[in-house]
Amino acid sequence: MARAARKGNNLKMATEYTINVDDAEVAKFNSLASRWWDPDGDFRPLHEINPLRLDWIRQSVNLAGKTVVDIGCGGGILTEGMAGAGATVTGIDMAEGPLTVAKLHQAESGAEVSYHKMTAEALAAEKPGKFDVVTCLEMLEHVPDPSAVIRSCHELVKPGGDVYFSTINRNPKSFLFAIVGAEYVLRLLPKGTHEYEKLIKPSELDEWARAAGLEFRESIGLHYNPITRNYSLGGNLDVNYLMHYQRPEAE
Ligand code: SAH
Repeated sequence: MARAARKGNNLKMATEYTINVDDAEVAKFNSLASRWWDPDGDFRPLHEINPLRLDWIRQSVNLAGKTVVDIGCGGGILTEGMAGAGATVTGIDMAEGPLTVAKLHQAESGAEVSYHKMTAEALAAEKPGKFDVVTCLEMLEHVPDPSAVIRSCHELVKPGGDVYFSTINRNPKSFLFAIVGAEYVLRLLPKGTHEYEKLIKPSELDEWARAAGLEFRESIGLHYNPITRNYSLGGNLDVNYLMHYQRPEAE
């Protein structure tokens, strides 16, 4: 039911939006931008999960010397992490505020990243097949048409290259944990960060990725323990999850 509604929504969206951007979502991230690098602020969960997701990516790809694009990079938490692992990273986002913060932070940290305000679709038209690795984490649930972003990820990556996604599942448990729990009870994230209808089931993400020509490699759940306040990787994909794909060498 929810899935049918979502599909209907996407069809409507596709005709309403000239580019695949939801202005209200971008405005939300613009308003929070100044607090992006505060480890105890609104983006604390991103700071806490960053070592875990970076390690997970590095288990399947050696980032040293690789060209990477980070789509929906925000203030650059993962982007800088990948640069620190030796990659040459391009970060793109459609929100001016987080990009400004990312550039200021980079000026201090000296990270090798070039930041641009553009969509994945626009970069894919400009630089098809130019990247060894594409990352698109915690972003797909904020765009009108996530399948179009996934198609662009396939276009951006070189044959044989790696693509990583992360997002939030859509089911009663994820509603309870990722929205009610995280935003209203534990207040890990600002209220309104995530909208239930925009969350993405792993089966949907997988369908879009395969339709785009990507091959599935691995998926993993990301879990938060409210008692110990620790995040960990593993287990089910019921709430937060990451997925790894590759573009085949020959298509
Ligand atoms: N990927 C980062 C930030 C996630 S927050 C991380 O995991 O640390 C989601 C980001 O997606 C925000 O910075 C928001 O501005 C960006 N975003 C939303 N819609 C977008 C679009 N259509 N194109 C590019 N970035 C977008």
